[in-house]
Amino acid sequence: MITIGILAVQGAFIEHKHILEKLGVKTFEIRQLRDLKKGMDGLILPGGESTAMGKLLHDLNLFKPLQDLIQGGLPVLGTCAGMILLAKKLTNDSHIHFQTMDIEVERNAYGRQLGSFFTNALFGEKEIPMTFIRAPYISKVGPGVEVLSVVNDRIVAARENNQLATAFHPELTDSTYLHEYFLSIVKNR
Ligand code: GLN
Repeated sequence: MITIGILAVQGAFIEHKHILEKLGVKTFEIRQLRDLKKGMDGLILPGGESTAMGKLLHDLNLFKPLQDLIQGGLPVLGTCAGMILLAKKLTNDSHIHFQTMDIEVERNAYGRQLGSFFTNALFGEKEIPMTFIRAPYISKVGPGVEVLSVVNDRIVAARENNQLATAFHPELTDSTYLHEYFLSIVKNR
């Protein structure tokens, strides 16, 4: 049985748990270092506030172990703030985090009025619902990165090997497609 660890120090982690449970996957919450002993087949970095999450990761001594796991090939899904945590470079912020994924990300990229919106758009070949909340977008991708979704001329989902990142919140819709896609990466590892 597949087990997914969900970073649960801050932000929207419960919704990921609910979707994965719907899909018959076992999950556990990562709140402190000893939680990592449980062992996982995949990791979810949820939405929330990336600066706060980054600080908590360091305070809780979770930063380096998680970075090592991702660099070692552990499949990871980063949504919204989670995507910011993965980015190699942030265009408008000096706080960079794991830097494991070869993408450049702009935080709070849609401005205040457009901070939150909902749309249906293609993810790969499949149209799925997408909820954006004070979302970032990907302004640049490296050569090894596959672009999976573009909304309003902006890259909002991409994959680099074991790392999948979305600017939107797939866990805040009734579609399970994106999580199923992530689980296919986990199974094929
Ligand atoms: N604006 C948040 C940040 O920069 C991300 C928003 C989200 O995760 N919904 O961290």
